[in-house]
Amino acid sequence: MNKPRGIAILGSTGSIGRNSLEVITSMNQHGENYHVSYLITNKNVDLLYDQAKKYRPEGVVVIDEGKADLFRSYLNGEKLKVYSGKTGLMEVMAGGEFDVLISCLVGFAGLRPTLEALKAGKTVALANKETLVVAGEIVKRTANEHHAVLLPIDSEHSAILQCFSGEATNSVARLILTASGGPFLSRDKAELENVTVEEALNHPKWRMGKKITIDSATLMNKGLEVIEAHYLFDLPAEKIEVVVHPQSIIHSMVEFVDGSIKAQMGMPDMKIPIQYALTYPNRVPSGYQRVDFGKVGQLTFVQPDLDKFSLLKFAYEALRCGGTSMAILNAANEEAVGLFLQQKIKFMQIADTVQEALESIPSRPSSDIEDIFEADRVAREFVQSNHQLVN
Ligand code: MG
Repeated sequence: MNKPRGIAILGSTGSIGRNSLEVITSMNQHGENYHVSYLITNKNVDLLYDQAKKYRPEGVVVIDEGKADLFRSYLNGEKLKVYSGKTGLMEVMAGGEFDVLISCLVGFAGLRPTLEALKAGKTVALANKETLVVAGEIVKRTANEHHAVLLPIDSEHSAILQCFSGEATNSVARLILTASGGPFLSRDKAELENVTVEEALNHPKWRMGKKITIDSATLMNKGLEVIEAHYLFDLPAEKIEVVVHPQSIIHSMVEFVDGSIKAQMGMPDMKIPIQYALTYPNRVPSGYQRVDFGKVGQLTFVQPDLDKFSLLKFAYEALRCGGTSMAILNAANEEAVGLFLQQKIKFMQIADTVQEALESIPSRPSSDIEDIFEADRVAREFVQSNHQLVN
């Protein structure tokens, strides 16, 4: 039997991490040979312990030092290498024995470890879109220099990758990213003023982590995905369009120069794009739910309302502006989403906060990773010191 393909999961206790473990179990049941090499979490050590018992990795990383001590206390002489803190994380990224990193930490925190894995020449299956949004040029350059392969897990980008199969890159006319529209698609702008955190977290189609679910309600998620698509597929902003498709059956489309369009379809289940990233360019069987078109009935499309969902517009503007704009956009959004989840600002203030940050903080060239970290820091500080508390 061939050596199993070793997988490290950066963010194993989150939504994508848990789905990834299910995919690995399912593929092995279908005769594939995957092994979980490292499980990495920030602080959810209870779930990490259960995962480690089940999947028997070589090592685990607990990024939060205090929680790492707690995790060690769970081990009753069991043989498991436990790394901790940012140092332990970087050690595993740079020198750990694994073939593929599934990068699914939430937000900006995923950038440094993902870059480190690329420098080690690892294949990176990327669910952490913020990494490409803030430092797309640097991430791509690093991957090229170290002959590392970067593959998308995000369902839209997985769809585009699948549509590109067998096509010449110069035959592509435009990308059409689909958006479900989130829970507030049919509400008026005025009605959005007082929506609750609970309503915003109630996504109609996808079950995901909190940060991305709020980003889906504001359409910022789609804005981040436009930027992600720009870097993954080397196309300018004007060739990347967004259309709202509430059924979430078409995961994205590619139009070619002759006017033909390819669409990739499937049930809205992240396990399908996760599996494709792991088996790319091949496919292996799965038992995941199939589309029943009789039940789906209709596939509908509408233009996104950029007045109501202005964050999508700001994302395009940041992409066109370039430099550190996207790091400012992302950091301000992460902070504003955090404030909204803590009920410190209202839903519509997320967009206002990001707009203020983009207008107040000058964009600079971002040739170096330190420029990105500085822009990120400045934008977070700006939001924390300038946000208006809900009265
Ligand atoms: Mg997506």
